Parts: sequence; C-alpha cells; structure tokens
Amino acid sequence: MISRLAFGVLALSFSLVPVSSAQDEGLRPNFIVIFADDLGYGDLSCFGNPGIDTPNLDRMAAEGQKWTNFYVAACVCTPSRAGLLTGRYPVRNGMTSDRRRVLFPDSAGGLPPSEITIATALRGHGYRTAAIGKWHLGHLPDYLPTSHGFESYFGIPYSNDMDKIEKADHISLAEMERFQAYNVPLMRDTEIVERPADQRTITRRYTEEAVKKIREFKGERFFIYLAHNLPHVPLFRSEDFKDSSPAGIYGDVVREIDWSVGRIRETLEAEGVAKDTLVVFTSDNGPWLLFKTHGGSAGLLRDGKGSTWEGGMREPTVMWWPGKLKPGIVHEMGSTLDLLPTFLSIAGGEAPRDRVLDGYDLSPVLFGTGAGPRKEMFFYHDEQLFAVREGPFKAHFKTKTSYVGQKEAVVHDPPLLFQLDHDPSEKHDIAKDHPEIVARLTELAEKHRATVKPVENQLDKRKTPAK
Ligand code: MG
Repeated sequence: MISRLAFGVLALSFSLVPVSSAQDEGLRPNFIVIFADDLGYGDLSCFGNPGIDTPNLDRMAAEGQKWTNFYVAACVCTPSRAGLLTGRYPVRNGMTSDRRRVLFPDSAGGLPPSEITIATALRGHGYRTAAIGKWHLGHLPDYLPTSHGFESYFGIPYSNDMDKIEKADHISLAEMERFQAYNVPLMRDTEIVERPADQRTITRRYTEEAVKKIREFKGERFFIYLAHNLPHVPLFRSEDFKDSSPAGIYGDVVREIDWSVGRIRETLEAEGVAKDTLVVFTSDNGPWLLFKTHGGSAGLLRDGKGSTWEGGMREPTVMWWPGKLKPGIVHEMGSTLDLLPTFLSIAGGEAPRDRVLDGYDLSPVLFGTGAGPRKEMFFYHDEQLFAVREGPFKAHFKTKTSYVGQKEAVVHDPPLLFQLDHDPSEKHDIAKDHPEIVARLTELAEKHRATVKPVENQLDKRKTPAK
C-alpha cells in the first residue's frame, strides 16, 4: 500500500510492496540510469529535433516508453542530482541554496552521509553498484560516490566548466578544443587520475567504463549510474563525431551520447542481460539557453535551465526493458524523484520509512497495470517553491527567466495558471477563468511547504581559504 497525505506527499508510513507480483515473477532486474547534463526537451529526434539524429534513443523509445511529462527535482545540476538519488526534494537535505545554486570547487559541503541513495538502498538488497561521470554532490571524501553506496566511481566530481584557468568564453574555448582551459579533475574512486580531464574523449571513456562494469557484474544484479557531463558547456566530442551532425558542435555532442546509449544496449544484448535490465535515460535540467547554439533546445517548452517554466524541468525521458515494459508514449507524470521507490519496488525491496520521501512507485505505468500514482509536482527555484502542478494545471506563484533577462523573480498574486495538456508552452494564462483551481493549487503548495523542515544548508559551506 502507498499511504499518501492528502496533499500528495508520501507520508512517513510509506511502504513499498505495491507490485505484489514483482517478486513472484522473479523480477529484480538490473538498473541503468543514463543522465545527460543540460540536454533539453527538444534535443532528441524522438522528441522532435529536426537536425540532431539520435537513432539509438529513438529505437529504445519505440520499443520501450517515451515519457512526455517527466520532471526533474530542480532546474540546476546539484539539487537535481540530489533529488534523483534520494527520492527527496533537495530542500529536505540542504542540497539547494538561494545563495549558491550548485556546489563549486571551493565548497565544503555535499550530500549528507545520513541520506539514503538508490545505490545504498539497492546494495542492501545484494546489488553491485557503480557511478560513472559527473557527480556534483560533493567532491570531498565524505560526499563522493564511494561514500554513498557506490562500490566504484570514475568521473569528474563537479561541472566540466569549473576550475577554469583561461579567460576566453566557453564557446570559443570549445571551438578551439582547449580542454586544458578547465583544470577539472578526473577521479577513480577517491583519487585524481588525470588533471585536466581530457574532455574530448570523456564520453567515450565513460562508455567504456560502463561496458566494463556490465561485463564484470553480469551474473549478479547491478545498478549503474552513468551521468554524462555533456552537453553542458564547454562542448567537446571525440574525433569520430566531429561534423557528424548538421546541428553543429552541439549536435555532434548529442550524437556521441546517443552512440554511447547504443553501445550500452549492444553490450547488454551481447552479454545476454538485456531482458533483465531496465534502462532509464533522461537529463538533469533544461538547456542552458545563455549559450545560444551551444546550449540546446527545450523544443516547444518555455525557457530552460535555471527556470521553473516547463523548459527548465521537463526532460526528454526514455525507458527501456525489452519484453517487460508496456511499450508506448506515456503522458502520465513522472519524476526522477520516483526512481528510488520504483526501483526498490521492482527489486522487491523497501524504500526508507524513517524520512519523508517525495517519490512514487511508477510500476503501474511501466507494466501497464494501472494509472500513474504521480498527480502533482512541485517546482523549486533553489529554496523557494515557485510553482505547483496538479493534473494538467500548473500555477506559478513566482517566475524568473533562466540566466538571462530578469534579475529578480516576479511575484504573481494571483498566481498565473496554465493548462499544460492544452498549452505546453505556457502561453495562455487562464487564472481569471478558474479561481477555484488557483485556490486549490495554492492550498496544495501551502500544505507541501508545511512538510519542509529547516536543515543545514550544504551548498553555502565553503572551505576556509589557506593563509
Ligand atoms: Mg545540468
């Protein structure tokens, strides 16, 4: 049974055995989450991009499920990743800040050791675990993947545009292929193995690591979290993908990520574990529009990364598990917050009961056995709740354009109201015609706010500078 508070947040008594047949049928699949960085809703050909071909993702979407209303927990990197791995809005564990939006190389905080990640939870059920790619949940030893349930880690601990040591802008540095302009470390477990990381080959090397882990883990159950650090600017791609796309360097980068997805699929098939593996592909936040043609597209959705308009938080999402998922286009709501309870349910485990979880078990939608459990979504801009969606209706209490334009958020009283199934671009405010819906969504937001308790902020902590 899933017990829900009236306002839709999972209660402390949350318990997970809703897919009663899951264990009986011998499920307990492997899980692979492929998480792109700053990829927009409109950047894949299966989501309508006219210039970027993504044949591997398109094929997996056609064979599996294409989710059109799938949200991340936040509109920027660090809090979005915290939400995915813990199933909790990042405001609950201090992983979002109004002052510093993400973690930086001088940060002293990270995902608190008391948090339970998907990896920690699945490892408790006998799963092997590996994290590959961008972490961005704390680069100090207490916060690295190996302190959060992952047996191994290979990747960069924060964003690929950090530790910048040359003055030119991200676009020209990418076009000059100056990866040395970013002194970003590449780590294996807790050690730096390369600095600066050669970002021209990084997508390829993450892929090789994933292939290696699949081969190593086959015969056991595993969870691989593959978080590409691209197409976040600066953009780099390997020699094989130069000029591979009519959409320029951004298209080349997305094509290489799609190649990576295909390589993982081939490996699963070659190793005979494809039918035992659920693959979820999505992105951590919308496109970084500030960087123009290096910044991707949210398609018909409004705005991008850093904003609580749809383009900032609705992501192109594909799920694939041959022979198990009910294939089709899914219009039900889902979220990265739901992955933890969903995976645990399918794996025959239980989600933590000692804390508020914000995720739902999406199994009924995956297997076509019932309606989706997610009826609402809360849209945070850092620590502040800016908007709420219930069913097709979304109310904005505050708005702020992404990284360009407005300096201050605009307060809307009464809130703006959009009906997203009719108006996914959020163009037509219908608040005046539906005061009762505005009132209901306002109450929903207030009840949700009441569940959030103050915690120590992790993003505001900085290392004391050396004297
Ligand atoms: Mg990002």
